[in-house]
Amino acid sequence: MNITTVQGIIINEKPYSETSKLLTIITKEYGSISVLAKGAKSIKSKIRTVTTRLTYANFQIKYREGKLSTLICADIINPFNNIKSNLSKISYCSYILELTNQVLKQNYNSKIFDLLVEALLKIEESIDEELITNILELKYLNYLGINPNFDTCSICNNSKVITASVEKGGFVCVSHVRNERILNPKTLKLLRMLYYIDINKITKINISNEIKVEINEFIDEYYSKYTGLYLNTKQFLKKIKQISL
Ligand SMILES: [Zn+2]
Repeated sequence: MNITTVQGIIINEKPYSETSKLLTIITKEYGSISVLAKGAKSIKSKIRTVTTRLTYANFQIKYREGKLSTLICADIINPFNNIKSNLSKISYCSYILELTNQVLKQNYNSKIFDLLVEALLKIEESIDEELITNILELKYLNYLGINPNFDTCSICNNSKVITASVEKGGFVCVSHVRNERILNPKTLKLLRMLYYIDINKITKINISNEIKVEINEFIDEYYSKYTGLYLNTKQFLKKIKQISL
């Protein structure tokens, strides 16, 4: 056991005994860890306000590898107040946190934490949460070991592509298209752009609803075909979208 400071985001909080909380924190240093916050439910506790979900902070902890660590104190980096005051942003961020946790379970890489932070900061800045979510979904494919080919035809490497195919793992050219739906050329351009874009550099993106729908359908199908991930928060998001249509 050693006392150390980790940079992290609380993705889950559960009551633990009468007065304490059990936290799941995604950290830059160790991936996803379980941390006991003793006395955190008590009104007088100094750690009460820093042990809620979506807190981004430097956490001083007694770290035990593979076991339950203990929280000593936390220094908030960003409280994400804008996200927390908007139901749509909260819903997307809940999904992002669950997805990130699943990706980290399959492959621990500190770059995944950096991507998560960059994405949350952009949503906090009020950049379209749906689009930022799509960018993360696309970038995580790398860490899940299932990169799509958004450069050339996935079969023959021809650079003249006509659509994107989940089945074939990316773009396809006119000779290799079979029963695939022909996507809008703007969708193809955007899939590639969102996959490669540096999240930090995004200041504004406007995309029509028609293109957004095509992008989302492609990503959803890709995930269900290749990842085997089934996330409750994603199902919830879909329900919200149906209501708002
Ligand atoms: Zn081809």
